[in-house]
Amino acid sequence: MKAVLPGATVGVLGSGQLGRMFAIAARRMGYRVHTYSPDSDTPTGQVADKEYERAYDDLDAVREFARGVSVVTFEFENVPAEAVEAAEALAPVRPSGSVLYTTQNRLREKNFLARNGFPVAPFRHVVSRDELKSALEEVGRPAVLKTAGFGYDGKGQTRVSSDEDAERAVEALKGQEGVVEAFVDFEREVSVVAARTARGEFAHYGVIENAHSRHILDLSVAPARVSEETARAAVEIARSVLEALDVVGVMCVEFFLTRDGRLLVNELAPRPHNSGHLTFDACVTSQFEQQLRAVCCLPLGSTELMRPAAMANLLGDLWNAGEPDWREALKFTDVKLHLYGKTEPRAGRKMGHLTALAPTPEEAARKARAARSALTRASR
Ligand code: AMP
Repeated sequence: MKAVLPGATVGVLGSGQLGRMFAIAARRMGYRVHTYSPDSDTPTGQVADKEYERAYDDLDAVREFARGVSVVTFEFENVPAEAVEAAEALAPVRPSGSVLYTTQNRLREKNFLARNGFPVAPFRHVVSRDELKSALEEVGRPAVLKTAGFGYDGKGQTRVSSDEDAERAVEALKGQEGVVEAFVDFEREVSVVAARTARGEFAHYGVIENAHSRHILDLSVAPARVSEETARAAVEIARSVLEALDVVGVMCVEFFLTRDGRLLVNELAPRPHNSGHLTFDACVTSQFEQQLRAVCCLPLGSTELMRPAAMANLLGDLWNAGEPDWREALKFTDVKLHLYGKTEPRAGRKMGHLTALAPTPEEAARKARAARSALTRASR
């Protein structure tokens, strides 16, 4: 496998904040970056050399984009398979289209995990009302019904306890394929962000602890408060998942840690992940530089965590009473501000994040929260 060296151009399918941070890492190392999505003036486009504002199903445009780069990666997994195939004919796409195919649909992803013996919560495929009824008898209540495709940040999820919930959940599916899974009464949620090269080299960032609010990630803390044994088990599962899928790039494996100490895989993301944003400021090599290194066939960098860290997401809701006062967060000298260049602060939209560094993970978490609260204190 030939290395793609600094000076070359790398292509990113998708143009959100993950692509933006990837582009920043790539440009720092002397690469050029092209990004492709249907939007303009995007978080990635603002820092890329070239922004293609074209539809994902415009295959001629995808081919033109692929011809102009040495390697294609993505930051958004819901790119249609045909677009990836069109790109793959002209440039290496890493991770490959088959990784994307498996992970962009919950049902395929869960089937892959279960088939390969990875621990998952009981789940069933459902389309109709009758199927949901029998599936609920099998997985038990409460359960969560999720759409199989195109769901993120809890979109397309309904919790089902009563018969009325079940009725409402089926209506919400609108005939789409769904996956119903047992509700997990977890002790905590954790993730492992890891990277793998084409030669099978593997690196991971240990276990990161994640707290969600309204199904959206709110706070991530590293290292996670888990036993060494759990940490080792989570990393080994992540390693096996990346190997089984033959991932070349970065992948995040999200877990539920149950109250009786079992790890269940919740979701896979075939790209850098929100829970790994703290690696940008806290690790020797960020998850974005690691993605670059992996997809360019370069040696992986050290994942050492230099200081305990916490990341707090900044959602559009923070703008309810006007622009947050950035100076307030910046008064915390160990807090780093990241903004994604998005101009419309809609509720639940990820606009940026803060990373706090501290001597302990608990202190880092406190500081990240305090800095975020300070942003809107003046307007309250
Ligand atoms: P997902 O989009 O599947 O990652 O779900 C987003 C969040 O919803 C998760 O991180 C959990 O906090 C919650 N959630 C999803 N599925 C379940 C489940 N089966 N049991 C309990 N909580 C869940």
